[in-house]
Amino acid sequence: MNDSYLKKRSKVLDHFGTKLRSGLSKEDFRKKLIKYGKNKINLTNETSKLEIFFNQFKSPLVYVLIFAIFIALSIGHFIDSIIIFIIVILNSIFGYYQEYKAEKALKLLKKVGALSAKVIRSGNLKLVKSEDIVPGDILILEAGDKVPADARLVKVYNLQVNESVLTGESSPVNKKVEVLSKKVIVSDRVNMVFAGTIIYSGRAKAIVTSTSGETEFGKIATSLENITPELTPLQKDLRSFSKKLTLIVVGIVFLLFVIGLLKKIQIIDSLMMSISLAVAAIPEGLPAVVTVTLALGTQRMIKNKVIIRKLSAVETLGSVTTICSDKTGTLTTGNMEVSKIYTDNKIITVSKSSNKFNFTIFGNPYDSNKLKNLFQCAYLCNDSNLKSLIGDPTELALKSVSKISDFSNKFIRINEVPFDPGKKYMVTFDKENNKVFAHMKGAVEIVLDKCKYFQKERRDVYLTSKEKQKILSINNKFAKEGLRVLGFAYSPTGKDNDLIFLGLVGIRDPPRKEVKRSIRICKNAGIRTIMLTGDHATTAQSIAKELNIGNEIMLGSELERLSDNRLKHLVKQIDIFARVDPEHKVRILNALKVNGEVVAMTGDGINDAPALKKADIGIAMGKTGTDVAREVSDVVLLDESFNSITLAIKEGRTIFRNIKKFVRFLLSSNLGEIGVISFALLAGFPLPLLPLHILWINLIGDGLPALALGLDPSEKKIMHTPPRKKTEGVLHNSLGFLISAGVVGTTVTLLMFLFGYKSLGLEAGRTFALMTLIMFELFLVFSSRSLRKTKSIVEFFNNKYLIYSVLISIILQFLLVYFFNDFFGLIKLSLINWVQIFFVSFFGVSLIEFSKRFY
Ligand code: ATP
Repeated sequence: MNDSYLKKRSKVLDHFGTKLRSGLSKEDFRKKLIKYGKNKINLTNETSKLEIFFNQFKSPLVYVLIFAIFIALSIGHFIDSIIIFIIVILNSIFGYYQEYKAEKALKLLKKVGALSAKVIRSGNLKLVKSEDIVPGDILILEAGDKVPADARLVKVYNLQVNESVLTGESSPVNKKVEVLSKKVIVSDRVNMVFAGTIIYSGRAKAIVTSTSGETEFGKIATSLENITPELTPLQKDLRSFSKKLTLIVVGIVFLLFVIGLLKKIQIIDSLMMSISLAVAAIPEGLPAVVTVTLALGTQRMIKNKVIIRKLSAVETLGSVTTICSDKTGTLTTGNMEVSKIYTDNKIITVSKSSNKFNFTIFGNPYDSNKLKNLFQCAYLCNDSNLKSLIGDPTELALKSVSKISDFSNKFIRINEVPFDPGKKYMVTFDKENNKVFAHMKGAVEIVLDKCKYFQKERRDVYLTSKEKQKILSINNKFAKEGLRVLGFAYSPTGKDNDLIFLGLVGIRDPPRKEVKRSIRICKNAGIRTIMLTGDHATTAQSIAKELNIGNEIMLGSELERLSDNRLKHLVKQIDIFARVDPEHKVRILNALKVNGEVVAMTGDGINDAPALKKADIGIAMGKTGTDVAREVSDVVLLDESFNSITLAIKEGRTIFRNIKKFVRFLLSSNLGEIGVISFALLAGFPLPLLPLHILWINLIGDGLPALALGLDPSEKKIMHTPPRKKTEGVLHNSLGFLISAGVVGTTVTLLMFLFGYKSLGLEAGRTFALMTLIMFELFLVFSSRSLRKTKSIVEFFNNKYLIYSVLISIILQFLLVYFFNDFFGLIKLSLINWVQIFFVSFFGVSLIEFSKRFY
């Protein structure tokens, strides 16, 4: 129903068979879901399995191999061509398997990170997946929500919507509920909200009119170009590195081909040799293994309740130097309970036993009826829903303590000023028998500023500055105990100034137990933790003290007076920024980044979006975070705990190290192969390895163990070293290893080739060369796990995938030599030959281990 903006709300409700107060029934919902289907638009490019498989053939290596097949055919080497063909297919199956696994991991991320929406169904407020919204659902929208479907507005409170995805207009649009009298374009339909747009401020209730492809967004989205996934910096680097290397190899191959011709080697042999070299050198597997490792890493992180939204975040996580963390819910548990009340000059202690609140003063019971005015304010100036436990934890705690009477039966909310972390307060205007009351709650100093009176023994007394000071000192006392304190006020005349102050409520939100340890781990890992909070300075300090964060504090108001330059210097010492607005976060972030820090920053509100976007790692909260915050962030924390950030950083560091390990391994084995072929040619030897052999090495010698290296467990010391520098590439410090591995690999292979060739003939020489190079690489894979120290025995065996992959490779070598030797032009080796090969390759890798001391 796309003309609902022209219809009265009752008509729209009737049309969809729904009710404003109770929404759809379970049965109606089910029927509609069958009729209209899921509310989702597939924008991303879903590659089919067949497509993934055929994509494997689009690579320089495969082109070279197809060329080789033709050459082999043209000179009548049918078996060679068939084997190369089989290898091409096997290689593609292997590549397919890797890519498919990566796609699956990424798909899972999307599923876990799916958006949700608030609807009223069968009379209850429910949080449901956005894809389960149907026409007729009654939506509840708040600032920061992404609108899940097109809907006709029926109630709005200062609603402003950012519709730039639809209209391109970035300033927010004011919305109304009145019926429009004539047909207008989408951007003028002010009584509608549209799927994909964002609630910028205020709140609303609306009836869903269309979903999925029927929405205005769906109509344009289906015609949009498919979005191609972005490559991470590392993937880009490696891709361009591979391209460059391929070009260099082609150059060298051409040169060697010419040398071969000059040396009067037969043209066919020369061609075969060039193909061998190209196959040896093109680092085919590299980008694919990186993608798989990153993707599998994200899967492991889900187990730690961390969703990675951008693959590049996995890399950046490893180089984080500063974490700017929210206090509430991240450093603290977010399980809030009211613990102290100050009203009428009295401090009342609140405790809970068997789900009942007890109010006492110095151990003596206090009659909660005397708190009625304060509770009325706390209950009405509140958007949380106790039944479904949906809403801000602060408000849930307040509603839970204040529900001594169901105030909502007596009052009807007619207007409101919604909570905004910049303003730090909220007001509701509630009507009872034609009389309108204003109820306000918020940061104590801000509420006090709006008050003219306070309540004393049920009378309204003028609020002197002395009385104000007293209230502020009680506020401070509560804050020192780590309580989160809110002030309450009301007006019986419905104005939001000259209010009557009702009292303070202190809410306990204890620090998370495990966070203290996490902060210490971060410190050891060279990562600073800074607390950014909208809360009171003293509360923040008290929590920071318990967590060992440090004590240097700056207020948002102080920060405002500083120049960027001054802030840049001061930010190095400050541990806590209190009473900050989202805009302050952006300035703090900028100052840190100018100092060269790599910053991970948490946030949840719509106003946090700029900071989250700008941070090197933007971290949004899974439960309390708004849709917008989640959409612009790189990482979402499902359990909202600081601990998960530390775990993610550790995982990020591990993944980067593992990528370093296999890049090092793959390149050093390629170097060995190039060395063998080039040296043999220059020295005038016959080819020690045929293209087929090199293909076999690259598939069996490299592939599986490289992938297994990507799954290496975290090293013990990983969080005892400073963060990796952002500029530090994947080959950092690896040159020594690469050169020694290349030189030793070439030498041992050539020596064994000559040994076999001279004693038993060319085929034997090639068998020796092939087996030596493979065994050398299978030992080398262990050596490439560390650049400095030789691993201990325990560490040696702690990656079971690596052990399995090496064992599988060894078995395959036996199969090759004893069953397929004829096809590959090899001989059957004797036991003594194997001993020789094992010994020489082991000796080669021992040399490399020894040379590590000199890197
Ligand atoms: P953090 O930024 O660490 O999560 P915070 O939750 O205290 O801390 P905000 O949510 O921005 O930060 O809140 C700032 C202040 O606004 C609080 O200290 C409190 O005084 C007030 N406040 C918080 N929630 C509400 C609310 N729902 N209604 C009215 N005032 C609130």
